[in-house]
Amino acid sequence: SIQVEALTKGYGPLTVVHGISFEVARGEFMSLLGPSGCGKSTTLRCIADLEDASSGVIRIDGQTVSAPAQNLVVPVHERQVGMVFQSYAIWPHMTVAANVGFPLAIRKVPARDVARQVDNALEIVGMRHLRQRHPAQLSGGQQQRVALARAIVGRPRVLLFDEPLSNLDAKLRESTRAEIKRLQRELDVATVYVTHDQEEALSMSDRVLVMDGGRIAQAGTPKQLYRRPANRFVADFVGRAS
Ligand code: ATP
Ligand code: MG
Repeated sequence: SIQVEALTKGYGPLTVVHGISFEVARGEFMSLLGPSGCGKSTTLRCIADLEDASSGVIRIDGQTVSAPAQNLVVPVHERQVGMVFQSYAIWPHMTVAANVGFPLAIRKVPARDVARQVDNALEIVGMRHLRQRHPAQLSGGQQQRVALARAIVGRPRVLLFDEPLSNLDAKLRESTRAEIKRLQRELDVATVYVTHDQEEALSMSDRVLVMDGGRIAQAGTPKQLYRRPANRFVADFVGRAS
């Protein structure tokens, strides 16, 4: 599970996330939905340790991983989070297997265990037969599968996605979306999925958190948001698809 309490993030004098709180249960798929610049990626990056939070508390499975007031920051490789971003961010000079095994290698997992877990993760995304290729020899969809395999290797406690479909064409978007849902169910992990696409958020999520200017405009199930938007902003933003 993920617990975020009064998370605030500022860059210099500018506060971009204003004390937001939410929880994601184990096995739950929650989207952060909102317009460009509302603080979705910043929130996700604080959970992943790609940014230092300014204040507030973040817990993963009950372990406090970020609490600036106590000078507590657990580094990314000890948080056991799997991440997939918009650009696949897999390394061109490394083979598929080396890319997927990288998070384990930096945690000093023994080579034999790395090989086994890499094969396992690649098997799950149907890419094991391509383990010795380099990214340049793969299609965009295959590269995104490598990124997915890397996110799930080593059994993460939490999965984090930041607009993982936005660089894919329409057909690939659909299959990758189904793949993400299948993986998430299979692994039964707390998932935060960032998107500015309301249709994506409503169709994939157990719960959606609508953000507006660094604050939570509304949190609820897709049905609740659609039927009973809390305010004009949510109604306009969520209703835009229909
Ligand atoms: P998008 O949908 O465009 O990805 P977002 O909701 O993910 O938007 P964030 O990337 O979280 O938005 O950015 C929130 C705000 O913080 C924006 O106003 C952005 O300009 C600002 N911001 C982000 N990173 C930095 C930075 N390193 N330094 C200063 N300001 C930043
Ligand atoms: Mg973003």
